[in-house]
Amino acid sequence: MGFIQASRGTRDILPDEVVYWQQVEKIARDLLHNAAYRELRTPIFEQTDLFERGIGEATDVVGKEMYSFLDRGDRSLTLRPEGTAGAVRAYIEHKLHAQGGVQRLWYTGPMFRYERPQAGRQRQFHQLGVEVIGSADPRADAEVIVLASDFLKAVGIHDWMLSLNSVGTKADRLHYREALVAYLQPFAEELDADSRDRLNRNPLRILDSKDEKTAAIAKGAPSILDYLSEASQAHFERVQDLLQRLKIPFVINPCLVRGLDYYTHTAFEFQIDTLGAQSTVCGGGRYDGLISELGGPETPAVGWAIGLERLVLVMQQNQSAALQAGVDIYCAARGDEAEAQSLEIAQRLRQVGLSVEIDLSGSAFGKQLKRADRSGAALSLIIGEEEATNHTVQIKWLTSGEQITLSQSELFDQAVLLQEKIMLSKPAKKI
Ligand code: ATP
Ligand code: MG
Repeated sequence: MGFIQASRGTRDILPDEVVYWQQVEKIARDLLHNAAYRELRTPIFEQTDLFERGIGEATDVVGKEMYSFLDRGDRSLTLRPEGTAGAVRAYIEHKLHAQGGVQRLWYTGPMFRYERPQAGRQRQFHQLGVEVIGSADPRADAEVIVLASDFLKAVGIHDWMLSLNSVGTKADRLHYREALVAYLQPFAEELDADSRDRLNRNPLRILDSKDEKTAAIAKGAPSILDYLSEASQAHFERVQDLLQRLKIPFVINPCLVRGLDYYTHTAFEFQIDTLGAQSTVCGGGRYDGLISELGGPETPAVGWAIGLERLVLVMQQNQSAALQAGVDIYCAARGDEAEAQSLEIAQRLRQVGLSVEIDLSGSAFGKQLKRADRSGAALSLIIGEEEATNHTVQIKWLTSGEQITLSQSELFDQAVLLQEKIMLSKPAKKI
């Protein structure tokens, strides 16, 4: 009988890689706290209707990627494919708008989409996202874009490209949509099957097609930027102006659309070349229509989501993470009494904040000390029969080989000093 493997499109994140994830999470928490964002945690599954209404039935996510199921009470539920719909539902349900002003929220966690698994594309993946709800000001658009760039910088990623576009208001888009369909109609037979299908349902999304032939046709399409109202143009220009002042480089890509009805004005993506085909690490934009669409008051909002698998992949490529620091102390002991004492000593040292790993093998000291070397600990404690009888302990600094004997009470008295010395002997963080 074979063993059971992780489900298709899911993967384990093993301890060596978790180091990167923990670093990302810590940096995100600090950075977002400094920018006045507060964390929101919503359920992993929601009623299917939320995503159908929120994301739009004509999108890939709702059309073919959702993990939906009936529960035992015959309710249709869906594992969340993204975070915005749940955040907005929570915003409306808990009347966060009644608190007045702007809500700055962030979230992180697993998302689920039934996709063809490939590098950078999984069925369970993770996102970190922000939402600024309650401001129509272009400064909010600039703020979230700068935050994404600051975040990438903080995790050691400097080589990205920011693409920017405006999809205007619903009225601008209706106007544009007509012109686009008129342009595409004569090419209908040459479009890829998906795009042909979208010609009537969701033609803007055709601009985003990865199919070569379709992309070439899309290049010649009229630009949405020529169909923006004066107010939409002013909004877009203000966003660009602010980004320039903040020294955030960007390129304008009129083919960048996030084809949902509720998206308005700014749309943007951060791409990283070394990621290959799935190069978008962060996607975002303004969604002034979503909150009212979901039954809340008319409320403007803007946000983004970063794909953490892709982010961690780049961090690994750059090796831009601190190496996993080993424990402070490795405790080698041999003999019943010594082994018992090693547990007590480790417990007391941990109470003052030192990290301690105990060797449980009972093997010869030579073997235990080899493992001590491999553990990355700064020093090893050695407790044999003689030390146990005399209530002493040998301390061996693993880098220098320097070795001394202390009484166990001296060891505890000097624990704080020891900790400082261990800190100094550890390699500096790389970031
Ligand atoms: P794509 O064009 O790559 O399918 P998308 O438009 O579906 O992206 P968004 O919904 O904007 O992606 O999600 C934001 C980010 O989440 C993406 O830029 C990507 O980094 C990440 N992401 C989306 N889907 C997946 C997935 N199936 N596996 C891993 N990461 C993903
Ligand atoms: Mg997708």
